[in-house]
Amino acid sequence: MAAVAKRRSASSRNEPRSVSCISCSRTHTVPGIAQSTLCPGCGTSIVLRDFDIQRPCSLPIETRGNVVVGRAGSANSVQLSCHNLDVEGGKIAGKIRCSGDFNFEGNSHVTGGITCRHLHVQLNSDLRSIHPIVAASVYAEGTIAADIQCSGTIVIGPKGLLRGDVLARSVQITPGGSLEGSTQIVNPSHLPKGSKPTLPPALLAERGEEVPNEELAVALPPEPKKGSSIAPLPSSSDSAKQESSP
Ligand SMILES: [Zn+2]
Repeated sequence: MAAVAKRRSASSRNEPRSVSCISCSRTHTVPGIAQSTLCPGCGTSIVLRDFDIQRPCSLPIETRGNVVVGRAGSANSVQLSCHNLDVEGGKIAGKIRCSGDFNFEGNSHVTGGITCRHLHVQLNSDLRSIHPIVAASVYAEGTIAADIQCSGTIVIGPKGLLRGDVLARSVQITPGGSLEGSTQIVNPSHLPKGSKPTLPPALLAERGEEVPNEELAVALPPEPKKGSSIAPLPSSSDSAKQESSP
């Protein structure tokens, strides 16, 4: 595991960037070249380094920089918190928390939940999650086996398969793609508090929306129910299908 500044272009290194606090989700702006910062809200020290994981790594990673997991790499840490996460064929397993986008290529079973802005599961890839995936938008070119809470649109590509119960603002299934599970189409703003799909706190902040403390708790996926490998959505009504295999 090594820090890689090279993945950020020279121009992007010079551009100020917005950072959401790992502890309180407050956002503030830092110079693009910064390698660490202090949250002006709660004083938490935030690492901004990028990480390039090209071999097995079992240490937790907590940064607001970007993380790449290469083909020979794996991140089996309890928690992987970062801005953008790019899995290029390597394995991931723990808890994934991205304040940015999550691009996934490979075959992994995530046990600690996934929260991100945009999730892209590449063609011929297979991403499984015991806990619901919480994202602002999802593109399934490959297979996703998980329940999904999406505040925006889920797009299933022509070879995509989504196996799980879905709560989203809209779902687009390209001819050839398939969805195996229940679908609930919701407009988050028309729903009472507590039943809307929860955006990652970082995204709420990015959109200029208030991030209440309880929202942080809600954003964490619930514990999976015994006997079900995929936890049901907290607000979904009884659905026929809860027994997808991992
Ligand atoms: Zn903070």
